Amino acid sequence: MRTAAAYLRFSSDNQVGGESIEYQLEEVSKYADANGLTLDESHIYVDEAKTGKNTHRDSFQRCLANAKGKPKPFDTLLIYNYSRLCRNQDEFALIQAQLRKLGVELISATQPNLGGLEGKLLTSVLTWMDEFHSVQIGAYAHAGQKQVAQRGYSAGGKAPYGYRLVYEDDPSGKLDHKGNPVRHGTYEIVEDAAAVVLRVFEMYAQGGTMKGIVVSLNAEGIPSPGGSTWSISAVRTILHNQAYAGDYVWNQTRRNKAARTVEKKSRDEWVTVTDAHPAIVSRDLFDVVKKRLEKRTPNASYVRRKYLLSGLLQCASCGGNFVVNKRGKNGDAYYCCTRHSNRGNGVCDNGRTYLEHAPRTRS
Ligand SMILES: [Zn+2]
Repeated sequence: MRTAAAYLRFSSDNQVGGESIEYQLEEVSKYADANGLTLDESHIYVDEAKTGKNTHRDSFQRCLANAKGKPKPFDTLLIYNYSRLCRNQDEFALIQAQLRKLGVELISATQPNLGGLEGKLLTSVLTWMDEFHSVQIGAYAHAGQKQVAQRGYSAGGKAPYGYRLVYEDDPSGKLDHKGNPVRHGTYEIVEDAAAVVLRVFEMYAQGGTMKGIVVSLNAEGIPSPGGSTWSISAVRTILHNQAYAGDYVWNQTRRNKAARTVEKKSRDEWVTVTDAHPAIVSRDLFDVVKKRLEKRTPNASYVRRKYLLSGLLQCASCGGNFVVNKRGKNGDAYYCCTRHSNRGNGVCDNGRTYLEHAPRTRS
């Protein structure tokens, strides 16, 4: 007689159908009885309230580890359905391969189990449907976040430098499904950091350069938002952030996971709520800075090039990278220390530049 283990999972994103563990176990046991399998009670693996999207399911990992035991503890793994096991095809293929290697047959108690090509096609369609469902749930979540954002509350993510995220009860007294008040995140001012933000805006509005601001902040030993020294990009990020005028802006960017980049979304996808939280800079000051930022020569013509020695040279003073970030009028490229040029003399005083003679390639 064949011996079976069971893997049961209850997920919190149960729009998919939150069949309880008890119910799943019942169905799996029924299947075992009807098909002449012995369900070994010491090999029932349960993962609870973990999203189907991630693969770190401890009990499932334990199940795989135990399946390697000798003598073999079970030759069949019963599941309630494929979506209990995984939510995408790649993961499913991986799990199937792992189980096959271990000589364990995977059986769904509630879906057809066919051998051969038909079976492969069918499980492939079933897992594809689960994956589609998972993407749909992502879309629901996005719609929910949008509703929160439209009311000026934080729809996720950290508060910008100068603020902290605090939670308050929904003003309408709304309760969640457990009867607790629904809470929303909003920004509260952090005095010390807010004073730095205000200074950055004032210095820039009075004609200071980003580099000049970086140099003064570093000279005073004020830690950057990331806790290290200030860089031009940190200052630029602050100057562009509308949150400091009291507005909440959501959905400006999209993370491209594959390319590991962040892309700007088109403006009509943004959600902007004015005066959503206390402002750090006045609307007038923000507008003065905005005008000045817009006047700067746009970077549109800037072509990202790859330079032969980028990332290979190191600064003798600070160990930072030497990259091309100075260019002469005739297009000549100069290597210099990034820490010197972005963070100022206080961080690295090596101001030497080297003209590039090597041929360059366009990326
Ligand atoms: Zn350096």
